[in-house]
Amino acid sequence: MLYAAPIARLIEELTKLPGIGPKTAQRLAFWLLKGSNEDARQLAQAIVDAKQKVTYCSVCYNLTDEDPCAICQAPLRDRSMICVVEDPRDVVAMERTRDFKGLYHVLQGAISPMEGVGPDELRIRELLSRLRDGTVKEVIIATNSSVEGEVTAMYLARLIKPYGILVTRIAHGLPVGGDLEYADEVTLSRALEGRRQM
Ligand SMILES: [Zn+2]
Repeated sequence: MLYAAPIARLIEELTKLPGIGPKTAQRLAFWLLKGSNEDARQLAQAIVDAKQKVTYCSVCYNLTDEDPCAICQAPLRDRSMICVVEDPRDVVAMERTRDFKGLYHVLQGAISPMEGVGPDELRIRELLSRLRDGTVKEVIIATNSSVEGEVTAMYLARLIKPYGILVTRIAHGLPVGGDLEYADEVTLSRALEGRRQM
């Protein structure tokens, strides 16, 4: 027994977090134990609150604490444009640019036969149902520039074109294989500006 049982348990839970190995987990656990009870309580409460209050928007599938989300509800957003992204973190990246005033659709991933993710696992059907009433004039596909992101973009373009809607792909000044969320604001702004028709 290296640790008292509660410490071992804390380390075990921390190790489950992405990017946290046993060493880092140990460091975090001891750091937390050194801190005040109040700090520990606030951290635990923030995790529980976020888990309880945050859900997916039933329109765009972004993470939100109100449904529909603040972006879907905002009266000044341009409802003729939908930007399709893989992940809620990509919405944050796009919003940081302040260049995009339309709406979003979060697929919840990308098509990946290797990982067993097919179109039915993604929010594609929900995207198509948003295109039926004629409000949307352009769909900007901003999936990552990875193989999965490109395959997903081409798949979507093929599905959406029959609706008579302009389908564009953001330009890739983005690094190849790069995730949208890691692109800096200027690069992402230019990628949006330089989007091309698919
Ligand atoms: Zn929404």
